Amino acid sequence: MRDVSRTLPEEILITGGSIYDPATGKSRKSDIGVKQGVLVAPDAVQTDSATSIDATGCIITHGLIDIHVHFREPGREDKENLQTGARAALAGGFTRVCMMPNTNPPIDSPEVVRSLLEKGADLPVQINVIGAITREQKGVELAELLEMYAAGVVAFSDDGMPVENGQVLRNALLYARDLGIPIINHAEDTHLRADGVVNQGALSTRLGLPGNPVEAEASMIHRDLLLAGETDARLHVPHVSTALAVELIRKFKGQGVRVTAEATPHHLGLTEDTLTGFNTNAKVAPPLRAEKDRQAIVAALVDGTIDCIATDHAPHTVDEKEHDMINAPFGMIGLDSAVGMAFTVLRQAGLAVEQIIDLFTSGPAAVMGMELTPIEEGAPVELVIINPDENWTYGPEDIYSRSRNTPMLGMNFTGRVSAAITSKGWFCRS
Ligand SMILES: [Zn+2]
Repeated sequence: MRDVSRTLPEEILITGGSIYDPATGKSRKSDIGVKQGVLVAPDAVQTDSATSIDATGCIITHGLIDIHVHFREPGREDKENLQTGARAALAGGFTRVCMMPNTNPPIDSPEVVRSLLEKGADLPVQINVIGAITREQKGVELAELLEMYAAGVVAFSDDGMPVENGQVLRNALLYARDLGIPIINHAEDTHLRADGVVNQGALSTRLGLPGNPVEAEASMIHRDLLLAGETDARLHVPHVSTALAVELIRKFKGQGVRVTAEATPHHLGLTEDTLTGFNTNAKVAPPLRAEKDRQAIVAALVDGTIDCIATDHAPHTVDEKEHDMINAPFGMIGLDSAVGMAFTVLRQAGLAVEQIIDLFTSGPAAVMGMELTPIEEGAPVELVIINPDENWTYGPEDIYSRSRNTPMLGMNFTGRVSAAITSKGWFCRS
């Protein structure tokens, strides 16, 4: 793969850009230096020997945080592993990710958590681990929540599978409340969803495919919100896809329930119409919905009902995705197109560049209780450089994941990552 270097140059000088620090909400026009992985004043680096990055027209900001990725390790490293996942993340501007536990075996014990954190420790992207809510993600018995918390998990989720049993979810919420971390429940009533592979409506009828109704998502979110309110625990709702769910989250948030939510770039930018050509790369769970749902997601990001953007990066092999719509697995990759899609759609919706950056930095950090790295001299470098006005077409050469399952190839975006830099490695496009 081109342009991805694991070794950080001794000295870097970034010139011509403006710095936006999401931790303070302040912007300033300034050059900035990096020396041995630490931010320094621009005159503290040797101008002639330093690697220079021209950031004219760009915004220099905190590295992006993706709290929902599937890196497939352990078990399906042929789709993605920690290293290839981290490479795709960095190329997409992300310096921290949170891995979902639906691996094989699932991440449901402190041993697996520790081994993944150890493996990820030297990667250029900070790897965080989310532990399973239930043993083997079967939804029946709680997993070793306290032990996994002690091993370092940042949240609990059975993502990919909902916790259908309300009593089990309620008990998990009580544990998570005492530990101070969120429960993330993949919200789809599997009985209502049945075999649905696309959004239920006119399109599913026309294509002759089983539909997944909006109520499958909304009814489970409604139950989860009631339980979060009753237990005073923190609930995080992943990949919100329907106007109905947005309404519920807005209502309960307004009542003081401790709920946060995320939207994916695909749900904010694409609709079910992407599936008219039976493109299995557009088959995701929850499914791409109707235009009115997409608009509700965008409005919820604009008014703060939805707190952050998360990719739900879900790599699958070409072989698997070559099955028909019924049998192909759910999921698309998303790390390397996230900035392009989100900046394009959300700027059109009226958000400022800084507000979009918040949805990728301070928003997700708050959900996971993470501290942002300050953008000031003496702090370790954790930066992304984004050109918000660059027009580009997303092509196969932009994919850094081990998998290629995305329906976005060929799309035109405005807003692109130029570089991402951490103290353990960097990505630079030019
Ligand atoms: Zn999910």
